[in-house]
Amino acid sequence: MGFRMANVEGRAALVAGDQYYDIETLSQGSIASDPMLALTQTEELHKLAEQLDGHEATGALDAERLQSPSPRPRNSYGIGLNYRNHAEESGMPIPQAPMVFTKYTSCISPPNADVELRSDYVDFEGELVAVIGQPGKDIPLDQAWNHVAGLCIGQDISDRPAQFTSSPPHFNLGKSFDTFGPMGPVLVSPDLLPENASMQLTTQVNDEVRQHDSTGDLIFDIPALIHFLSHITSLTSGDVIFTGTPGGVGVVEGRFLKDGDVITTTIEGLGQMRNRCVRVSDHPRADFVPEPIRKAAGKS
Ligand code: ZN
Repeated sequence: MGFRMANVEGRAALVAGDQYYDIETLSQGSIASDPMLALTQTEELHKLAEQLDGHEATGALDAERLQSPSPRPRNSYGIGLNYRNHAEESGMPIPQAPMVFTKYTSCISPPNADVELRSDYVDFEGELVAVIGQPGKDIPLDQAWNHVAGLCIGQDISDRPAQFTSSPPHFNLGKSFDTFGPMGPVLVSPDLLPENASMQLTTQVNDEVRQHDSTGDLIFDIPALIHFLSHITSLTSGDVIFTGTPGGVGVVEGRFLKDGDVITTTIEGLGQMRNRCVRVSDHPRADFVPEPIRKAAGKS
């Protein structure tokens, strides 16, 4: 029996339909209300989810009250060029091993939070996100799914001038501005999802579909990423992996996010996030127009 977990204003909750059940109340205090602690007890969450029927819901789920299902991960990883069509559109070779960067944990934000733009070249990247439950080190491929608490949607928002202002590029910085890691809306345990998490991912900006692909097309799938990463760093409950974005990102067409744009990201079985863009200021390198953007401008 699987579970859907939400973070309702800082408290872990189980979700059934459009109702939520406060986990601390439901477990009579045996599971803590802090989602970071609840994520250390995924076996108990599975058991608790079976018992929802006999209980009264705490309330109706309200998208505006949701926070990230893992609000304070110890580590937050991003994977670059993990879809063939995105590597090709970026003019980059298909990686022989996962291309890993950090999204500083300070960028993690609620599923429907505003995205703050600090240049005219900020991009969307709709992604499938895995959150670690059971910690591990040197995890064998065939054990990897046992370490996943659940999956959710994420946006790996990317400021291209900051990303490409140094050579080689610093992905970490360009993808870690405050508000650049909205994730949610709920965390869904893998047993409730299709085999190998193969689902349709769609990113819309306002009314226009910009990305539409299957998360089954990952070059390095979730077990491969967990196997690879865990031989380098210990994985801990709540750690977050942004698994990479499919083709269609703005930098390729030279079309970036603008003040007032609304990004809607949907993954089958995981729900939907809506993020409004707000142009707040210019960062010190906002005027730098990197090579990939100049190339795109030349094409159009
Ligand atoms: Zn990405």
